[in-house]
Amino acid sequence: MMQKATQEEMESCPPQPWSDLPISEWQDWRWQMRNRIMDMDSLSRVLTPTQSERDAYIESTDYFRMSITPHYAALMDPTDENCPIRRQIIPSPGELENYAGMLEDPLDEENHSPVAGLVHRYPDRALIYTNHTCPVYCRHCTRKRKVGDPKSSPGRSALRDAIKYIAEHKEIHDVLLSGGEPLSLSDRNLDALLGDLNSIEHLDIIRIGTRNPVTLPQRITPELCAVLGRYRSIYINTHFNHPKECTEAAAHALNQLADAGCVLGNQMVLLKGINDNVETVYQLNRWLLRNRCRPYYMLHCDLTPGVSHFRTSTEAGLEILRGLRGRLSGLAIPQYVIDLPGGGGKIPLVPDYLVGQDEHGSYYENYQGVVHHLPHPKEDPPSSAKTTRLQ
Ligand SMILES: *Cc1c(COP(=O)(O)O)cnc(C)c1O
Repeated sequence: MMQKATQEEMESCPPQPWSDLPISEWQDWRWQMRNRIMDMDSLSRVLTPTQSERDAYIESTDYFRMSITPHYAALMDPTDENCPIRRQIIPSPGELENYAGMLEDPLDEENHSPVAGLVHRYPDRALIYTNHTCPVYCRHCTRKRKVGDPKSSPGRSALRDAIKYIAEHKEIHDVLLSGGEPLSLSDRNLDALLGDLNSIEHLDIIRIGTRNPVTLPQRITPELCAVLGRYRSIYINTHFNHPKECTEAAAHALNQLADAGCVLGNQMVLLKGINDNVETVYQLNRWLLRNRCRPYYMLHCDLTPGVSHFRTSTEAGLEILRGLRGRLSGLAIPQYVIDLPGGGGKIPLVPDYLVGQDEHGSYYENYQGVVHHLPHPKEDPPSSAKTTRLQ
């Protein structure tokens, strides 16, 4: 009982350096938005930036802003330059480096955009870029080219054109609201957008891609959940990358969304030195599953500018999948995908468990490293092949 009281006490006051603030303000997403850390002076109140972080900030800010909610900033370890939260949000020298294969628009979205702000790559799915305003700018952002540009936010008429396009294309059954950050829309504007989409007969589902459960969980209010709860088939994909992001507030946000009837998934991005190991992904995905959010994708890092320091080999991703299989509920094992440069779309990478094949069948190595035999079906191999008993 003692322990429980202490925990409640801790939750009743915001973390350092905001501990004098009333908890009600801390829990108000508007306060969080008003008090975002957007320059080195305000960052210095939370930690002492290194000289290279200061330099990288100055060099990068015109192209890609810095913005951090107090909620997310409080998760940083001020004494560790390599803190997995810190590396996702504070500019670092790696961001200024060019590298072979780097692309301004790595997924060639602009050439798959029949109307402004809409990407139609797969026949049955379309993506709407709702706005460029995120509470936190992830340094590994794929849409830096747009998010960094204040003119990129589609206005009312662009959104109207996007809705019209979807209404006219009966082959589209799945719409993704993406950004930027769709939940940066007001409840009213989001409600109007969802209402318009919901009235399109041929749409089966609406997806919302949002990082707010991670970076601004306070945004998941009862009012927002009431809006989301009005529509059927809302899928929400969020973006947790590390167990340090798995806070009480984040768990509460996920459970509120699930209670509102949304189906939850997570799209982790594989980032070097942040989550490129089995243990980190194991802990993260266990937590997600417990909070009713299924790990959907583990995304290989896109060829966005300034991410050379985040890129891993594909072997690192496959190693994680091998390490999870057998140890963790299959429900918590994501698909590992590469979104191919040039607009090729997503392809899954799967570890190869097949270790051999002969006239008797195939041989597979399981998660314990034990090889098991799977006999061929009757017609395969051709009937001329001799069938003998396996030792
Ligand atoms: C990722 C993506 C989708 C959705 O792909 P799923 O594999 O169905 O999750 C749709 N459109 C675009 C442009 C995308 O980049």
